[in-house]
Amino acid sequence: MAERSTAATMKWSFRFARIAGIDIAVHATFALLLGWIALSIWRSTHSSAAVLQGMVFVMALFVCVVLHELGHALTARRFGVRTRSITLLPIGGVAAMERMPDQPRQEILVALAGPMVNVLIALVLGAWIRLHNVAPPEIDADTVLLFSSPAAFVYSLLSINVMLAVFNLLPAFPMDGGRVLRAALAIKMEHHLATLRAARIGQSMAVVLFFLGILYSPVMMLIAVFIWFAAGAESGAEQLRHALHSVTPRQAMISRFELLDAGDCLQRALDLTLQTDQKHFPVRFSDNSLRTLSQRDMLGALRDGGEQVRLSALSLPLLATCDVRESMEQVLDRIQQENHAIIGVTDRQRLVGLLHLENILELMRIDAARDAHRSQDGMRF
Ligand SMILES: [Zn+2]
Repeated sequence: MAERSTAATMKWSFRFARIAGIDIAVHATFALLLGWIALSIWRSTHSSAAVLQGMVFVMALFVCVVLHELGHALTARRFGVRTRSITLLPIGGVAAMERMPDQPRQEILVALAGPMVNVLIALVLGAWIRLHNVAPPEIDADTVLLFSSPAAFVYSLLSINVMLAVFNLLPAFPMDGGRVLRAALAIKMEHHLATLRAARIGQSMAVVLFFLGILYSPVMMLIAVFIWFAAGAESGAEQLRHALHSVTPRQAMISRFELLDAGDCLQRALDLTLQTDQKHFPVRFSDNSLRTLSQRDMLGALRDGGEQVRLSALSLPLLATCDVRESMEQVLDRIQQENHAIIGVTDRQRLVGLLHLENILELMRIDAARDAHRSQDGMRF
């Protein structure tokens, strides 16, 4: 899998290596998977050697998963796209790329590179088997994780790499095959419409996978749920991004707001909180810097210093600002990347408005309703 992400690593994940400048991390839930596999081998065999072999196999499998993700990441790098991290999850790996390549043809190559790594590994293992002339071991369902011989180990790893390649190539966006599908659609239609269509196909495939999972495998059910939500989220983000294309911060900002002065007492901020529905206040300091006072900071200061404390005595974070002429897409990226509750909008260094995520969403809702009204008007003719 390959994801567009701005975060360095996922929450609850731990970095354990760095390859080609990319952090390799493992998610905490991965330990649950290892524990579950160890427990199920132990229950059927009561052999610690079998448990150990099982663990070695899972490790080998996840080396293949990391190589798959590195296939994506290193191909993306050739097109100038950095990957921040690769995280191992129980359902596979996720490469967090800072963006997807703009050219559909480049995206196709990036998406294909992962499964091709698994094909390559399968070919190498196949060559090893031919070279050593080993017969396929008998594997039944109960002992599939028991590796009596190196041959059984290699055969299992080979078949699982073939499965990884085939499974990832399913056209279920945002799986690799789905990305190929989206990029292919994007050659002919607008990018956001291609994403919408690919996401719908992906979600229908997720439903099919989920029902197959009920019959065959709980892991498949998990993957189906992941595909459903990831397709929805990625498509939603893309539609929002597209809609913001024509919007400026001036349209989305709140232009009536209270600006506090560093010389003001906390009491004034508390009064304004009760009188208005503003939750964050910009504060101008004597050096002309703008800082921000949140409700949480306000309550903390009230507890520590009482209501007569001057705002200048508080250590407040700087207010992030954007220019009124910046594109809303960039501003949204910053709000999400830097996790700002609020951004000040400036026009030639002067603070003219405040912007937070809720404003942007509000504007989108108004726009959507206006569009719906327009199309109703159209229908009357
Ligand atoms: Zn992949």
